[in-house]
Amino acid sequence: MSPPTVWNFSAGPAMLPQSVLEEAAAEMLDWRGCGMSVMEMSHRGPEFTQIIETAEADLRGLLAIPDDYRVLFMQGGGVAENAIVPLNLMRGFTRAAFVDTGIWAGKTIREFGKYGNVHVAATASQACELDGRVYQPYAYIPPESAWDVPAEAAYLHICLNETIGGVAFAEPPARDFGVPLVADVSSTILSRPLDVSRFGLLYGGAQKNIGPAGLTLVIVHDSLLDRALDVCPSAFNYRTVADNGSMYNTPPTYAIYIAGLVFQWLKRQGGLTAIRALNQAKARLLYDTLDASDFYANPIVPAHRSTMNVPFRLRDESLNELFLTRAQQRGLLQLKGHKSVGGMRASIYNAMPLAGVQALVEHLCDFEKDFG
Ligand SMILES: *Cc1c(COP(=O)(O)O)cnc(C)c1O
Repeated sequence: MSPPTVWNFSAGPAMLPQSVLEEAAAEMLDWRGCGMSVMEMSHRGPEFTQIIETAEADLRGLLAIPDDYRVLFMQGGGVAENAIVPLNLMRGFTRAAFVDTGIWAGKTIREFGKYGNVHVAATASQACELDGRVYQPYAYIPPESAWDVPAEAAYLHICLNETIGGVAFAEPPARDFGVPLVADVSSTILSRPLDVSRFGLLYGGAQKNIGPAGLTLVIVHDSLLDRALDVCPSAFNYRTVADNGSMYNTPPTYAIYIAGLVFQWLKRQGGLTAIRALNQAKARLLYDTLDASDFYANPIVPAHRSTMNVPFRLRDESLNELFLTRAQQRGLLQLKGHKSVGGMRASIYNAMPLAGVQALVEHLCDFEKDFG
């Protein structure tokens, strides 16, 4: 296996495991002797049926998904789910509750306004004092004890990992709020074990931790399959998609195939407990380096820091361009922060090896030595 020549810290689409890309390359023209590329196969043929069934079984095994949940392979990404979720869950309801943790939760809330009345159960939009330190807006998760969730809400929505802000739930909420819990898991799914039974619905775009853009994963409890509004498009109706084995319309076949290879790679790594240990080691190395320096800063409450997306700033922001140029010269790519927040961001999803984070840490230390 040839080592990659660059380390790609993109927030998404993001790097994939090198061995998965090599496997896909090797069977690109002829999938296991059938003479066809996966891209050319009928989605209803025996070859692709085997691919999608294996992918689902492997995903169920990795996440220990209970039998009363359906796994749906859909399209539209996390952003489309902001509409598809209410279209599927609002029959007989007028409002839903939301925890406002940042930019992605905010987008979900704004889109929901087309389908019902928004109830903000809690928001991190104000600065807050914790352990004697003042944290800026959206640098923390609002304490669960103060969430206000009306009993008549259709559901409670949270974003488990704010990809831009770098703030994340350490664990799913412990309280039972009496309404189904819906979570955007686009940038955290499969980074660690997750108790699926705590949720009514999980959704996420694939391009961070699962595979190529174009595939959206939905994991939904059986009890939520019959609450769709009449106007819900059939191709996005969870009941219709579930009853047709994600084949009501043509699913994103090649993306599902790559996701299946990623699931097998994850199993070879030792599953989600092993990948969590690696992800924690990577994140600790990076945060420890940032915290040990006055030259760099990460603004997030330590207990709520994401292990997937690590935003940071240089105290002297006039050095930003030089920092990025030097990083690029060492093969460290895509470290520029999201345009809405500036600064830097290192996304270190499952596929980023420890060696990539070590290379970034070397750059951080060398750059500080030269310009600090
Ligand atoms: C990337 C991301 C999305 C958007 O995904 P699209 O595929 O662009 O629709 C939504 N939510 C979160 C948390 C994300 O990280």
